[in-house]
Amino acid sequence: MSTSEPVNIIMIGMAGSGKTTLMQRINAYLHEQNKAPYVVNLDPAVSKLPFQANIDIRDTVDYKQVMSEYNLGPNGGILTSLNLFTTKLDQVVSLVEKRASTTKYFLYDTPGQIEIFTWSASGAIITNTLAATYPTVVVYVVDTPRTASPATFMSNMMYACSILYKTQLPFLVAFNKTDVVGHEFAVEWMEDFEAFQRALRQQEDESFMNSLMHSMSLVLDEFYSHLRVVGVSAMTGQGMEAFFGKVDEAVKEYHDEF
Ligand code: GDP
Ligand code: MG
Repeated sequence: MSTSEPVNIIMIGMAGSGKTTLMQRINAYLHEQNKAPYVVNLDPAVSKLPFQANIDIRDTVDYKQVMSEYNLGPNGGILTSLNLFTTKLDQVVSLVEKRASTTKYFLYDTPGQIEIFTWSASGAIITNTLAATYPTVVVYVVDTPRTASPATFMSNMMYACSILYKTQLPFLVAFNKTDVVGHEFAVEWMEDFEAFQRALRQQEDESFMNSLMHSMSLVLDEFYSHLRVVGVSAMTGQGMEAFFGKVDEAVKEYHDEF
């Protein structure tokens, strides 16, 4: 099978947003299309993976053992495990390079707790290393039903915005769990500033918080105008084609820029 240049896809998102389930869905979808991906699990604390990983951090580090050896809590254990794994990143890269001529998509699942990956040296090293090999798209996974209130929505988007500026990589927001709640409200709030303001007014009283939120939503308006967005359901598979359409768009834009 011949393929064009490989693409890395890194799943990032709050705990429970559905990164792992979406990985499973994407993996299954690509298999159906005869485009078997190469799959890497970077979550040392996942108890059971619903997909078969080509590289699994758990084969290299046992986070529970790391916890007791270094006298750490769960978060420290996960972070230290990621650090230990990162010292072997060159081996990952050479395994990946061997597959690059036959594989188009390289998928990376990250630890449940978002900050372990996004606010650690290891997370940055892994992201930068991957981005230096092939075009790399950061997929920010959102738990749509849990982000349906204006205040939660905005804080989630602020977080997304901070990750975009931190990684400076092609970026796609995947509104997940659209089988439960559609993502149309999110698109409306992003496209129509007034609609978001109306939603805000319905929720909160006139207060300091409200005027702060008003100012922040002005800032986000600029972020939204460049944002690539898709609605998916990791559960039902809805939105897979659109997802890859957006991934390819992100990669294309990346090429146009460099
Ligand atoms: P992660 O922490 O981001 O890796 O999240 P998981 O993939 O472990 O998913 C967290 C929970 O959300 C699990 O109970 C999943 O079954 C559920 N979930 C994930 N994706 C979907 C979806 O598209 N629809 C629904 N209804 N539930 C989902
Ligand atoms: Mg997970």
